[in-house]
Amino acid sequence: MNAKQDEPILRGTGTEGASPDTLGAPGGPAQLDLGLEQLDGGAAPRRTGVKYGPTGRPLREFPAPAPLRQHGPARIIALCNQKGGVGKTTTTINLGASLAADGRRVLAVDFDPQGALTAGLAIPAHDGPTVYDLLLGNERDIRKTIRRTSVEDLDVIPANIDLSAAEVQLVGEVARESILARVLRAVSDEYDVILIDCQPSLGLLTVNALTAAHGVLIPLECEFFALRGVALLVETIEKVHDRLNPALKLDGILATMYDARTLHAREVMERVVETFGDDVLETVITRTVKFPDATVAGVPVSVYAPDHAASKAYSQVARELVFRHAVA
Ligand code: ADP
Ligand code: MG
Repeated sequence: MNAKQDEPILRGTGTEGASPDTLGAPGGPAQLDLGLEQLDGGAAPRRTGVKYGPTGRPLREFPAPAPLRQHGPARIIALCNQKGGVGKTTTTINLGASLAADGRRVLAVDFDPQGALTAGLAIPAHDGPTVYDLLLGNERDIRKTIRRTSVEDLDVIPANIDLSAAEVQLVGEVARESILARVLRAVSDEYDVILIDCQPSLGLLTVNALTAAHGVLIPLECEFFALRGVALLVETIEKVHDRLNPALKLDGILATMYDARTLHAREVMERVVETFGDDVLETVITRTVKFPDATVAGVPVSVYAPDHAASKAYSQVARELVFRHAVA
């Protein structure tokens, strides 16, 4: 590993402008060798009497998965998109709660100095060691950073603004890209899934998340610029795959904030499916104020509005990920 360490992993860190705007550029990100190759996402002939979902595939419901007989080792999934406000944190909270509801033991790692995941799960961010202390070695026992949430089987490692200094402080460290991977190893056997809520950048923290992860889930907001910057993200994933973490896979693209009433959202959806084919999860998250409301209340939407469709949506994401073998 690290044979090519003299070469920087990232050039032009996080500069969205460096990437082509693939929306409207036929072909999209082309040579992707993470199983991202362009699939035939074109509209398949539709059969009458069949209901189709927003991604153009027949609608179906993913069933509750079989209970697990034993727990761990965890599959680690990084929620990644260098664009802010696309639903990474909302997905981490609600996917985590849904997996826990299906009997999976889940650890959510707040890896964004903004600490939105920590706040969204109503965990105080300043009264104990955080993920920053683990990275810097100020706290060597990961268990001392893990907090229980109000959701059974959903634990969290909090973050606060301290984390914003970590990138600079870790620059001189040996194997600085794999610090999080090393830290998480100590509890990997106790969880079935570890979700890492990344910050909106492609800097060293995100590279750490990708190096620790087995899979990446990319939330994409269904709006015009959704695909802008995705080529750069995919390039980063490929570099980490090639240089640091050969096991890394793309687990899927999750379309979020979809509004079926607008032609615009439907067009964006079509374009996303054209570009990523079956990597786009069949489950699509609709835009609804229940999500921000639940986050402000510090609970997952399944607790805040259990009977609302929003609550079922992430349960379906969880079950689709089990169906796709992205989660045990
Ligand atoms: P990110 O972590 O990628 O920055 P967030 O999950 O914090 O994105 O979402 C950004 C904002 O959009 C938050 O206020 C959140 O509550 C809201 N939001 C997320 N998903 C939805 C949705 N499906 N419908 C409506 N609002 C949403
Ligand atoms: Mg976030």
